[in-house]
Amino acid sequence: CGIVGIVGNQPVSERLVDALKRLEYRGYDSAGVATINGGELHRRRAEGKLVNLEARLKEEPLAGAVGIAHTRWATHGAPTERNAHPHFTAGVAVVHNGIIENFAELKSELTAAGAEFQTDTDTEVVVQLLASLRREGMGRREAMHAMLKRVSGAYALAVLFEDDPSTIMAARNGPPLAIGHGEGEMFLGSDAIAMAPFTDKITYLIDGDWAVIGRTGVHIFDIDGNPVTRPRQISTAAT
Ligand code: GLU
Repeated sequence: CGIVGIVGNQPVSERLVDALKRLEYRGYDSAGVATINGGELHRRRAEGKLVNLEARLKEEPLAGAVGIAHTRWATHGAPTERNAHPHFTAGVAVVHNGIIENFAELKSELTAAGAEFQTDTDTEVVVQLLASLRREGMGRREAMHAMLKRVSGAYALAVLFEDDPSTIMAARNGPPLAIGHGEGEMFLGSDAIAMAPFTDKITYLIDGDWAVIGRTGVHIFDIDGNPVTRPRQISTAAT
């Protein structure tokens, strides 16, 4: 139900949880965070309130300067830790708001091709589809674009690929998603309020947009893969 991400130049897990707190007003039943460190994806997830996720992170801290995080409002699959986002497989991590309407069809297709699903969520088809497209030999952007052409429904998505530890990809079709411009760091959030402690320079994605976010800037594309520009605005969201 809430998404945040940071392509940072210093540790991100605490800042990600702080940003999630600013999205608590949207409601949620579980939460999680994933980072890339040492060239590998790692995650911590917890049922219930963010204090539970914070306790998990205290037990087992999560290093890394690039990460994504999520508060989940379950639509498909019980609100358990197993179904909490981020979901990942084979070097791809995903958080998602919304509903993938054609997940059943994609799930049976991917299962028939050998994918082993680990959750009951609609979201996991995004992860498994990206992993399968990468196995077919597609590059990261190509796989992201091909995945977006296959899924239908409402989504705000953030994606981490293990083989590119300094980039977050994002996509929007329905639920809001905005990019925040920092100094040598870039941010992603469901709204400007989530990013208010970090930056007030915000670019809103519009439906059909997807983005490749690096430490120093963002490239935005439309659903046909054409580069597009979206205005950078100064947000008045209170810190
Ligand atoms: N449909 C997804 C799920 O149930 C995402 C829900 C949300 O927007 O938080 O896991």
